[in-house]
This record gives sequence, structure tokens and C-alpha cells, in this order.
Amino acid sequence: MVSQDTIINKLRELARNLWWTWQPHVIELFRELDPVLWRETDHNPVVFLDRIPPEQLVRRASEMALISRIDYAFRRLNEYLENKDSWGAVHASTLRSRPVAYFSMEFGLHESLPIYSGGLGVLAGDHLKSASDLGLPLVAVGILYAEGYFRQALDAEGWQHENYPYNEPSRLPIEEALAPDGTPVRVAVDTRTGTLHAKVWRVEVGRTTLLLLDSNVPENGESDRALTGRLYGGNAGVRIRQELLLGVGGVRALFASGIDPSVIHLNEGHSAFAGLELIRRVMEDEGRPFGEAVRQVAAMTVFTTHTPVAAGHDRFGSDLVEENLGILREQLHLPFDDFNGLGRVHPGDHNEPFCMTVLALKLSRHANGVSALHGKVSRQMWHPLYPSRTEEEVPIGHITNGVHVLSWLAPQMKSIYDRHLGRDWTHRMRHPEVWSGASEIDDGEFWETHQVLKARLLEFVRQRLARQAANRGAGDAEVAPYQRMFDLDTLTIGFARRFATYKRATLVMKDAEKLAALVNSSNRPVQLLFAGKAHPEDRYGKEFIKEIVRISNSSQFRGRLAFIEDYDMNVARFLVQGVDVWLNNPRRPQEASGTSGQKVAMNGGLNCSILDGWWAEGYDGRNGFAIGSGRTHADPRVQDERDYDDLIAALSSQVVPLYYDRDASGLPRKWIARVKDCIRTLGWRFNSDRQVMDYAQFTYLPASGGQPCEMPGFHT
Ligand SMILES: *Cc1c(COP(=O)(O)O)cnc(C)c1O
Repeated sequence: MVSQDTIINKLRELARNLWWTWQPHVIELFRELDPVLWRETDHNPVVFLDRIPPEQLVRRASEMALISRIDYAFRRLNEYLENKDSWGAVHASTLRSRPVAYFSMEFGLHESLPIYSGGLGVLAGDHLKSASDLGLPLVAVGILYAEGYFRQALDAEGWQHENYPYNEPSRLPIEEALAPDGTPVRVAVDTRTGTLHAKVWRVEVGRTTLLLLDSNVPENGESDRALTGRLYGGNAGVRIRQELLLGVGGVRALFASGIDPSVIHLNEGHSAFAGLELIRRVMEDEGRPFGEAVRQVAAMTVFTTHTPVAAGHDRFGSDLVEENLGILREQLHLPFDDFNGLGRVHPGDHNEPFCMTVLALKLSRHANGVSALHGKVSRQMWHPLYPSRTEEEVPIGHITNGVHVLSWLAPQMKSIYDRHLGRDWTHRMRHPEVWSGASEIDDGEFWETHQVLKARLLEFVRQRLARQAANRGAGDAEVAPYQRMFDLDTLTIGFARRFATYKRATLVMKDAEKLAALVNSSNRPVQLLFAGKAHPEDRYGKEFIKEIVRISNSSQFRGRLAFIEDYDMNVARFLVQGVDVWLNNPRRPQEASGTSGQKVAMNGGLNCSILDGWWAEGYDGRNGFAIGSGRTHADPRVQDERDYDDLIAALSSQVVPLYYDRDASGLPRKWIARVKDCIRTLGWRFNSDRQVMDYAQFTYLPASGGQPCEMPGFHT
């Protein structure tokens, strides 16, 4: 007889390590314990286990014969944590005593830990998961936001409203971080407006640890207590102080936890103040002058820039810089002008604000963009910072983003891969030959699985739409039709992402009549699903959402086009696993990489995208669809016109005909061939194992040994 405590403790331990988020067998376990409560708690096992009385939990586990599966899951977790036979043990053992420290403003690990807004966070989360799977020694640093990013709700007119539910720490999978002597880790940063204090939480992500700073402590005054309230929520004064906490506080949190990193990786410029704190330490501990300390720190620093969009690069006035960093500046023995010059392209230009990307570039010897095209665009963009070099010699290379396969792959697809890609394919997924097995997948088996996932998506959409309508106060008569909308056999196109202007969410509906003709075709209809949040201050993004909602309510589009509220990782999973086609139409070259299309590719959907970001290097003419040929134009209106024409042409002359081209048994053979090409040619490249291995080989290992950067496109 297993004791009650043992079972509950095992479940709690499983809940406390985010490893479960990429283990379908553990997710199933939680779900089977109580499917309704599992959904109600937003898939948060900490809250879920709290809400079920212990006796009931144990009774349920034995009734459902789950005890041995709980044991198995628990054993697997411990085997995973203790496994010494990893890629990292062979290839990155030099990092074991002094790991990589990975800094990011946001981490998208799971919907139940809402400290992310979009692609940047999800990328960081996927990076940690792959580092864990590969056994690469890496510790991450971020912020615990009391309210995270907002939850989205639309009113009847389609206008976005933001809600900020409180993230009660006891309901999250976090523990207080402890120093080697067992006391809680605390950090303090002195500024001209007072000392900023923070406590530190830890999150276990498999074998990787994530430290999260939290300024909600009694030592702080009101405004500093609220500092870590919202992600991307405040004005410049809040932002610079959050970034001070992340960078300077983050380095202090690492050392206070007994971690002395050999490499720091700045995932976007937000955390670039970390370099200044490391420089201060080198000057103090080793008695070196500033210039030497800079060279030493830059040699160990990796910087990834993530966007060519100007608003994505934080810039601060010198008054804010002095207010927050004045004391650190004095410790670095730098005059006011010299210090501000560190954040300027032209250090002597007093009107130029302090830019975090400029600081990060000056403090790192290993800088990269996130796709080949973005590397090139970044070299162009930052050329003024290197006036003595040609554009090709600007020291920014590229490492293309990927996604964490086991977090995004539908379990049903995984079991097909388990049968066709060979044993242990999940451990060898960065090798092209592993994916050649995709060609052998039986068409009928594949299609049936895809239809199951699509049916799941459509059912999810119906429930969401009904709930959205009910939340807006709609009566039963209005809600009921939502339960029947959308059709399994209709070509289904998904579009979901942040509603930044350059992503042009409404491009496909530029001419409503043309779209209506496509959508309402009698023998080859189309349906479209949209989701995404606009930044609270982004009026244009909100107008886009409103426009989509207006169209979705018009008689021509009802039941064929819908907007799903509150896009998050849960909504994303349903969409990327169930759609036939993933539409992406950014204004090239502003999509640095994009990753959602990679999630679709491995799940058996096809991308239909502008040749921008990862798709510019992933598309080979057969593994999806291209919109246009990658042309750009100085006038964005002209570019939008052309891209619109190319988009409609791609849909009506390629996507729709191919999807509805069926053989006698009803299978779209040519479509399925294209999907298999997609999986075979993209699976091995656009996963985050390959990404993390590239970072290790081209940046982490050279940086830890004081060697120059080796990544593609990079000239030393
Ligand atoms: C994957 C993902 C993203 C990134 O998508 P892009 O293709 O970069 O726009 C954003 N948000 C969520 C919730 C995701 O899962």
C-alpha cells in the first residue's frame, strides 16, 4: 500500500519542475486526475493540486489506476535530472564549474507562469528547455512580474481592454532562492533616488534554473515595490529601473547564489547593464582600469539583438540614466559624458539618447541577429557604430531561431514520429538524416492524425467564441450559433502573433470583396482564425483588431472568420497544431525571425509567408508557400500593395487548389507530399536544440575561453 503522503509529494515534485510542460505523459496524468479543474486552473498544477483535498486526490489516483503512472513519471524526472550522459557533458563540460548566465526581460515557459508577452519570451523559454535537454550548464535571470503581461478582452465593438490579474507567488511553481549559507538571496542596487531592493525566486526548468527578481519587498517604498508589477507596462522611468534591476541586480543575484558565470548572454538589449556591473566587479576585485575591464567583460559577453524595428530598442535621456546609474558610474570612475557616451553611436553628441542596444554592442564581442537576413539587416543598421569598417565587417553574425520541439509538437504527431524517425529521434533531432524518415509516413495515417488535431482546434475555437460572447453579455440566442461554427473539411488558415503594425494583420482583408469570394467559394471555401494582443499603448494595433472583429461580424464572413481573444501559449498550441496553413505577412525585412511558423511546420501544417525572417532561409520552393519573391520598396504603401496582390495570388492559385486536389479516396496527395517535404527539410534546422548547440559552439565556448566569436556572418 502506497502511503498517501508519498503520492502527493511525488505529484508536488512533478508540479515544481517545469519539465512536465514538455512531457505529454505527465500532462495527461494531471488532466486525468480532474479534467475540468485542470482546465479551470489554466493548466497550473500548483493551484490544481492545492484545490483537490488530499484524500480525494489519492482516491481518484487509485480509481483511475494512475498510481503506477505517477511513480513512473516521478522516476523519469529523477533519471532526467541525474543523467550524466548528455551532449553538454561531452561538448561543454568546461562550462560546468562556471555556467552560462542567460538574461532576458521575459520568459515564455508555460501559460501558467505568465511572465512573457510574445516571441522574445517564448524563444527564451525554449532556449532554457533545450539547454536542459542537452545538459548545457546554463542559469537564467529574469523578473517575476506581479501582474505579468495583460489578459485581453474585447468589447462588442472589438476594442481591446486589458486586465491584470495578480500572480500570487504561492500559486506559481517558484521557490525562494537560497544563498550557499541557506539564507534567502537578497539584492540591493544604490541609486540617486534611493536603494532598490529585491528578493529572488527560483524556477526549475528541467536541469536548468531560472532566477527571478522581485522588487515587492518591505524595504522598498511604494513605487519601487510596484516596479516589477507589469511587463512592458510603465514609462521610460519604470523601464530603465526594471532594466537596472535585471542587469545589475541580476548579476548580484547570481553571485549571491554562489554562481560565477564564465559567459553572459544578453537576450536583447534590456539587460545590458549587466555588463557594467561585471566591469565594476573586475575593477574592484582585480584592480584593473576601466578600459581593461571592458575588454575582459566584452570577451565573455554574447549579445543577441532581436528586431530591426526602432521602437524595439530602448533609449533613455541622460537625466534618467544619471538618476538610476549615477552611483554605479562613480564606482566605474567615469565622468558623466563618458558614461553617457557608452550608449551613443556618436559619444560626443549630447542630444543622442542612451541606447541599450548600443551599450550591448559595445560591451560584447559576440553579437548576433536571429536569422541570416536579420544578421545582414543588423549589420546595415549598426554600421554607423563602426565607421572604420565596411558594412560586411560590422561584427554582428547570425544564429537562426528555433523552437523547442517537445513543447510544441502535438502528442499525436509525436507518436507518428516515434514510429518513423527511429528510436531516440528526440535526442538526435538536429541531424538531417533523422528527419528523412518523414517521407515514409503513410499518407492516410498522417491525414487522419492531422484531422483529429484540426477537429480539436475547431472545438476549442467554438467554446472560446461562445465564452467570449457570453462574457460580453450576449444572450443564449447569440451564443448558440458559435457552438456550430467552422467546418472540419474547409481549408483553415491561422494568423496569430503580436499586433505590431509591421506584421500587417489586416493585409488579407484589404479588399473585403476579394476575400469574401475566396472564403465563400461553393466548392473550395476557406476559413480564417485570428488571435493576438496589441500593446496597450498601440492604438494602430488595436484598430487592426477592431477591423478584424468588424469583418468577422459582417454577414459575408460570419462563421468563416473569427478572432480568438487572449492569445497565449495555450491558444498558440491549439492553433499551430491544428491549422492547415499558417499565414505570415510582415513587411520585409522587419520580422527578425518569427518562430510560430516553425511550430506549425513540425505539426503538419504549411506556411504561407512573406520571404522574411526564418522563412527566407527555410523555404525551398516545395516545402510550403511563398508570398512574392522577397522584393521590398522604399515606400511602404507600394510594398503593401504588391504584397497584397502576391498574397491573394498565392492563396487563390496555389494554396486553395492544392488543398482541394483530392484523389479517389479523398486524400490531398500532393498537399501531403508538400507537408512531408516541409517536415523533412525544416524539422532538423528550426528546433531550439540546434539553436542552443549553435550558441554553444559559435559563442559560449569561445567566449568562455577568451577566444574570438566564430558564428556565421561574423567578422572579427
Ligand atoms: C511562438 C509564439 C510567438 C512568436 O510568434 P512569431 O512567429 O514570432 O510572431 C508569440 N506568442 C506566442 C504565445 C507564441 O507561442
